[in-house]
Amino acid sequence: MVISELVLLNLKKRITLPLFSRMKPLFYLITALLLTVSCSSSRSFSEAETKLIMSADSLTPMRVYKITNREDSLLLRTPSGTIKADPNNPAIKHFVSRLFATVRDSISMGVGIAAPQVGVLKNIIWVQRFDKENMPFEVYLNPKITKYSKKKQSVREGCLSIPNRSDVLNCRSNRIEIEYDTMENEHKKETVEAFTAVIFQHEIDHLSGILYLDHLKKEMEDAKTKTTND
Ligand SMILES: [Zn+2]
Repeated sequence: MVISELVLLNLKKRITLPLFSRMKPLFYLITALLLTVSCSSSRSFSEAETKLIMSADSLTPMRVYKITNREDSLLLRTPSGTIKADPNNPAIKHFVSRLFATVRDSISMGVGIAAPQVGVLKNIIWVQRFDKENMPFEVYLNPKITKYSKKKQSVREGCLSIPNRSDVLNCRSNRIEIEYDTMENEHKKETVEAFTAVIFQHEIDHLSGILYLDHLKKEMEDAKTKTTND
């Protein structure tokens, strides 16, 4: 709003100058300003997220949000946004370290975790790579699934945000193609199979506010429809 007022003032003052030469530098300035504002607001942590992330040291686990709590549940259902992979941003390093401490914590030990599960709506996940030697945990920024195999697999899933239950899903693809950014801001693509592909599908779902129970519900509804039709 302030920027448009400045434009108007400038126009009134220098109305005799040719329109294009007067507007061109201003146009670039405004575009640059708007880009800076939109980047900083949508591709980095919010003020509240930064406060939450920096509230303890990098080895301290964060509280895991659970669907049994109404407010937590609303956040878990909210889609996350893109994060700018910036190796010089200490808040990102601090956050991924705390997110790792959370997934390895004895009270919430898992094979994967997504940022919204600790209240941070950004596209960041940790996945244990059962398909690699020594099964390392790896962090992925802005992961996306670009291709799903038709062949499915049946695997029992649990979720740190859904206490005291686990269920077998039959709808996860056996093989997926993924794209993501690394912490060093490299863009990578790869193909993942079997159980590791299930973890990716589960964690990437969290970034869209989807929980494994949604797939379970759909599978049960589809089974019911099939039975009725038969
Ligand atoms: Zn989960």
